[in-house]
This record gives sequence, structure tokens and C-alpha cells, in this order.
Amino acid sequence: MGTSDDSVDVKELLDLFQIARLVVSTLNLDQVLEAILKSAMKLTKTSAGSIALYNKSKHELEMHAHRGFSKGFVGNTKWKVRPGGLTDVILKADRPVVISDATKNEYFTNPIAIGEGIKSVICVPLVFKDEIIGILYVDDFTPRRFGKNDLELLSILSTFAAMSIDHASLHARTSKMAVTDGLTGLFNHRYLMQQFDREFSRATRYKETFSVLMIDIDNFKTINDTYGHTFGDRVLEKLAEILKSSIRASDTAARYGGEEFVIILPKVGSAQALALANRIRKHIKEKTSALMKGKGILTVSIGISNYPKDSQKKTELIKQADKALYAAKRRGKDQAVEYREL
Ligand code: GH3
Ligand code: MG
Ligand code: MG
Repeated sequence: MGTSDDSVDVKELLDLFQIARLVVSTLNLDQVLEAILKSAMKLTKTSAGSIALYNKSKHELEMHAHRGFSKGFVGNTKWKVRPGGLTDVILKADRPVVISDATKNEYFTNPIAIGEGIKSVICVPLVFKDEIIGILYVDDFTPRRFGKNDLELLSILSTFAAMSIDHASLHARTSKMAVTDGLTGLFNHRYLMQQFDREFSRATRYKETFSVLMIDIDNFKTINDTYGHTFGDRVLEKLAEILKSSIRASDTAARYGGEEFVIILPKVGSAQALALANRIRKHIKEKTSALMKGKGILTVSIGISNYPKDSQKKTELIKQADKALYAAKRRGKDQAVEYREL
């Protein structure tokens, strides 16, 4: 079978077919992008290349796959779009930009790219539903002319890359939704229980402590009844924001039910848990004062349980935090109570 410059042969088609199979069967985005890049370089016989994703709101690109470059060149994985620079030109052109000789090109001015010795490049915007979501680059270290065939092959591959990026981001969004509470953005009940199981196993295996806080808004029914359900929702959103900003990345805050929240605190003993509970109570009073202006002070009651002090049984710890919470309510609300002192 002959290979003229402007026809695609069977071997090339097989390569494209393999990529298409990978696109629909793999959720690991970077793995797919690497395969697409490898194929793009092979089909265009270029010696380097990269694929970057475009973040429109930050006006920034982030490299997700690269081959054939020096460590220094690819160490810099994010870059801002510079007005008049090559990236800016590609984003505005909305079609492939071909540079046959970088030394004679007016917008190929990035000193890092020049220092790397790039002399020729094809830049293909990755478009999905009329939006540019990334750029595929194939590069060479000598000036060269690219054929029509090169552009056609890259156009097919860029469609695959765009589909994979959309596929992966849809998957990430769906996975996030499955574990998130819609109103507050905190984790939901189901995720909390999974996380609780994981934390319990971890703590028993490594003989470590952890604590559970159960938080319930005081007189929330009155707030709803007096100021309306929509205002109540805003209180819940604000409270969630305060909880998120009061904990560490290793802690898990979740909406347990309507106006009840649970926080799991890995490696936190009971004294430290009580201190955090009181800090949270203080934050809530302070940080909701603007929202609650003229509507009274928002307070919460908190119940605390600790592994292994209160119980070594998985099923009991959350119940104990709940019992401690009820004790806090009985004792007059606006306070934190530990299960072990009941
Ligand atoms: P206590 O101080 O004893 O906790 O009393 P309370 O009024 O806070 O508790 P109660 O359990 O009687 O009422 C909880 C209220 O929370 C009732 C319910 O309508 C309200 N609620 C639950 N989920 C939501 C929600 O998503 N949005 C709003 N606005 N209200 C909610
Ligand atoms: Mg309640
Ligand atoms: Mg309540």
C-alpha cells in the first residue's frame, strides 16, 4: 500500500481506531492524553509534543501530557495566556496554527520554548461544543514543512482528545455530586458513613484515636417559622461555610440530616475535640452576626464522642455523639458536651 502525502493508510487508521477504543473505555484522562500524544507524534513523525488543558476562568493552561522535552521545559506545568503570545494567537485563531520556522515567526517569542530549541510546531485547539478546552502541540527541533495529511490526522486526534477531556470532567462532576449535599456543598450522609468506616478501620489498625462531633442548630424551627424557609436555607449554607473553614483538610464535615452536621476528626483526642467544638460555637456566633442582624444570635449544640475512650464499637460512636448532643440540648443548648461525662 502506497503512502502519498495526502492520504491516510490502513496502518494509520488502525492507530486511530486503537485511540478511539481507549477514549471510550478509559476514565484516566492523562493516560488517554498520553496515548493520543504518542500517536500524534508518530503519525506526524515529530520528535516532541504536549497536550495542555485550558482553564477559561483563570485564563491559564495546564500541561497534562508531554514527550520529548527536557525536564526544565516541562517543569513549568501551568502558564497564563499572555496577550499577543502564541497561546493567545491559537485561542483566537480557533483552528490549527502551523509554524514551519520558529526563528522567523513573530509570535513565537517565549524564551523557554526558544531555549528548548523548538523550531517547528503545529498547535491544534481542542474544541468541544464550540468551546476551546485545550491545545495539542507537536513540535520539532528543526524547521520543517508539514503536509495536509499531518493536519488531517491531528484534527481527528484532537477531536478524540476533546471528547476524552469532556468525558473525564463529566465523570469528575458526577462523582462529586454523588458524595455532596446539594444545598451546603458538604459531604452527604452516605459519604459520611463510608468515611466513618474507613476512619474506624484506620484507627483500630494503627491504634490511634479519633473523635466525632455532632452539631445541631438551636431553635432552627423558630428561625424557619419566623423568617421563612429560604432564609433558613441561607443559614444552613453559611453554617456549612463556617464549618469548612474551621477544620483541617484531613477532617470530614458532612450534612448528617436537615440541620444536623457531623465532623470526623482523625487523630484528635477528646480534649482537643472539645476545644475545637467550642471554637466552632464561637465562630458560628461571630460569623453569622451580619446574616442574623436583628434576628437574634445563632447558636448550636454539639455532642462529642471519642474512640477508643467512649466505645470501641463502630456502631456506638455516632449514637454516643447523638446522646451527648441531646444532653447539651437538655442542659439549655448553646454548649458542647462530651459523652464520657454524661
Ligand atoms: P432544637 O433547638 O431542639 O434543635 O430545636 P429545633 O427547632 O432546631 O429542632 P427541630 O428538630 O424541631 O427542627 C428542625 C427544623 O429544621 C425543622 C425543619 O423544618 C428544619 N429543616 C430541616 N431541613 C431543612 C432545610 O433544608 N432547610 C430549611 N430551611 N429548614 C430545614
Ligand atoms: Mg435537629
Ligand atoms: Mg435543632
